Amino acid sequence: MDAAEFPIAPDTLVVSAGRPAREHDAAVNPPIVLSSTFHGTGQVVDGDRAYGRYSNPSWEPFEEALSALEGTELPGLLFASGLAAVSAALDLVPPGGVLVMPKHAYQGALVMAEELAAKGLFELRKVDIADTAQVLAALPGVSVLWLESPTNPMLEIADVPQLSEAAKQANPQAVVVMDNTFATPLVQRPLEFGVDLVLHSVTKYLAGHSDVVLGALVTSKPQLRSQLLHYRSIHGAIAGPFEAWLALRGLRTLALRVERSQATALLLAERLAAHPAVEAVRFPGLPEDPGHQRAKQQMTGFGSIICLQIAGGQSAADAVVTALQLWTPATSLGGVESLIERRRRHVNEPTTVPENLLRLSVGIENPEDLWSDLQRALNSLPSS
Ligand SMILES: *Cc1c(COP(=O)(O)O)cnc(C)c1O
Repeated sequence: MDAAEFPIAPDTLVVSAGRPAREHDAAVNPPIVLSSTFHGTGQVVDGDRAYGRYSNPSWEPFEEALSALEGTELPGLLFASGLAAVSAALDLVPPGGVLVMPKHAYQGALVMAEELAAKGLFELRKVDIADTAQVLAALPGVSVLWLESPTNPMLEIADVPQLSEAAKQANPQAVVVMDNTFATPLVQRPLEFGVDLVLHSVTKYLAGHSDVVLGALVTSKPQLRSQLLHYRSIHGAIAGPFEAWLALRGLRTLALRVERSQATALLLAERLAAHPAVEAVRFPGLPEDPGHQRAKQQMTGFGSIICLQIAGGQSAADAVVTALQLWTPATSLGGVESLIERRRRHVNEPTTVPENLLRLSVGIENPEDLWSDLQRALNSLPSS
C-alpha cells in the first residue's frame, strides 16, 4: 500500500487503506488469493508465506486498514471469528494467573473464561466494569484485565484510561485487552487510552452486512503481536480469503453506516424513553444515562445499540418482537439491517440481565420507518 504524505482522517482511511500499490493497470482492489501453499526453497524463516495457515495475501489489506484505524502501523491479525480472537487473547493469561473481566461482557467470552477457570487454568474475578472502585479492588495480582465498553448488553461504560493505568500499576506485566466491537475504531480508539490489545468481532460493524463471520486483534506492541501470530498459526483459526475480501469491502462504507445508525439510534432512544410501554432505556447518548459523561470523554459518538426494558415483563417483551414488521428478530448486531432480540432467550445469558430486556441494533434504514414500526408494536401491547 502507498501511504499518503499528509494526515488522513478516519472516514477517508476506511476507503483508502489496504489498497494495492499504484502501478499502471494494477487492480484498484486487492485480489482474492486462493492458494494453500506458496513457492519456497531452503530454510523457512520468519515472514515467509510458506503455507496458508501462516499467511495469505488476502488477509493483509484488511489487517492493514484496521490497524490504521486503531492508530498503529503494526498490522492487525484476522481470525476465523471474534471468538477465535477471544481464544487467542485469553491464552495470554499465564497458568495460575488472574483474569479480571466484566460480569456483563460478550456472552461467548464469558463462557470461555468461565470454562478455562473451572479447569483450574487461572483465577477469574468478575466485576461491575462501570464501578471503578470495585475494579480497582480486584486488580492486585492481575495478569489480564479484560475491558468491554459499552458492555453487551447492559451498555455500561468503563473508565478505560484509569483502569488501564491501574492495571499496569498493579502488575507492570499485565496485559489490558479491550473488546471494541460495539464502538468501532471510528467511535473509540482504545490504544490511545493505554489498552495493549484491541479485539473486534469483524462479523459486526466492520464487515457490516451480516454475511461474514470473522474476528481480529490489533496491538502496537511487536512482541505481543508475534505471540498472537504464533498462536493463530499453531491453533489454526484462520480467516478464509473470501471472507477477508468481504470484510474489506464492507469496511469501505463503515463511516457512512456508523454516522447514519448512530444518529438514528439517538433519535429512537429519545422517543423510546418517552413511551409509556418502555420501563427503561439504556443508551449512553441519553443525558440521564449513568454512562453518559464517561462516554462523552472517551467516545466520539454513542454507538447504535439501544437496550429497552419493556413494561409487562418477558411476555410483553416477546410480544413487541413478534409484532414488528421491519425490524428483524435475530441475534447479532452491526449490520445494515435493524435487528432486535430479547437477550435472555439465550440460556447462557447472565441472570443479572433483566428478562424484559430487548437489545436493538439500529441499522441504516429510514429513521421514521424504524420508529413507526417500533411505535406500532409498543402501542399494540395490552397495557398501553
Ligand atoms: C459477536 C461478538 C463477539 C464474538 O464474535 P463472533 O464473530 O460472533 O465470534 C465478541 N464480542 C462482541 C462484543 C460481540 O458482539
